Amino acid sequence: MTVSLDDPHTVPTRHWHRLDDGRLQCDVCPRACKLREGQRGLCFVRARIDDQIVLTTYGRSSGFCVDPVEKKPLNHFLPGSAVLSFGTAGCNLACKFCQNWDISKSREIDTLSGRAEPDELASAAENLGCRSVAFTYNDPTIFFEYAADIADACRDRGIKAIAVTAGYMCPAPRAEFYSHIDAANVDLKAFTEDFYRRVCVGHLDDVLDTLRYLRHETDVWFEITTLLIPEHNDSDAEIAAECAWIRDELGDDVPLHFTAFHPDYKMLDIPPTPPATLTRARHIALAEGLRFVYTGNVHDTDGGTTSCPSCGIAVVTRDWYVIRRYALTDDGRCAQCGTQLPGVYEGPVGRWGSKRLPVLIA
Ligand code: SF4
Repeated sequence: MTVSLDDPHTVPTRHWHRLDDGRLQCDVCPRACKLREGQRGLCFVRARIDDQIVLTTYGRSSGFCVDPVEKKPLNHFLPGSAVLSFGTAGCNLACKFCQNWDISKSREIDTLSGRAEPDELASAAENLGCRSVAFTYNDPTIFFEYAADIADACRDRGIKAIAVTAGYMCPAPRAEFYSHIDAANVDLKAFTEDFYRRVCVGHLDDVLDTLRYLRHETDVWFEITTLLIPEHNDSDAEIAAECAWIRDELGDDVPLHFTAFHPDYKMLDIPPTPPATLTRARHIALAEGLRFVYTGNVHDTDGGTTSCPSCGIAVVTRDWYVIRRYALTDDGRCAQCGTQLPGVYEGPVGRWGSKRLPVLIA
């Protein structure tokens, strides 16, 4: 497909610079693609056109869906509420286990059949009763200018913005992007550089840097997800090291979700994660001192429960994405002892349930 600045979905960008050899280097993510005229970056959606680096998917989407915020997963952010989820195409990592590879690795413009300008999207979210929008099916890092404009349009209507991301982003665009964002779920894909290099074609330190940045330099509410892959990132030692790092660098109140892998993309020969692995990981995390640790993609009452850190009662009990019991006040205090739970709580718990509702915006 030929791209041109005459295309309304192709827009100029700012985070790049010229190299001595005439190539242009994209500075959005640590991949640092160096492009000659007409070339695309690894993410596919940024390209060099007319001697500048452009975003080619502004206002385009791979689809829209309303689902529960717990599915992002976020367990401490407007619990039970509906979120308008969408993504574009492409990705700046190359994970061999990608569970959304039809979108993230798409080179087909057909994938981007949905179209929506930021105001249309914000208006749709409002009309659908969503408390937030989520950039989720692929990583918003690569289309952050579009995502930021949507977040601004949403903020004008009292709707929040959520980034579901691998956190693989350079400091300057990262600061610009997160000034528009209210909450994030960051995939911490493993806790070894070897895994990131071999399986994701990226670097662990850059992701840890984003997590430190979110914790210490922003007010963005964030939770962390680690997808456990049998024999690849699920050893006791690696899980304990990850949890100790989270506790020491980010604090013990950052929620951590362990989720189950299913064979996909280039890792079809690896078996699905046994539920017992998620439970084992959760126990390790609790033993390391993390206070809010969850299991995902499984029916697990213990792993779906939030306990009050003071009196110990179950304040939120979940079954998969459905809230079965809720004992928090409207501002997120334990109904029994009054202790404030970390997170964002604004009013009564939502009633969206586990529904997944595909929607057409335009
Ligand atoms: S955002 Fe895309 S073009 Fe830019 S460095 Fe990352 S992968 Fe390359």
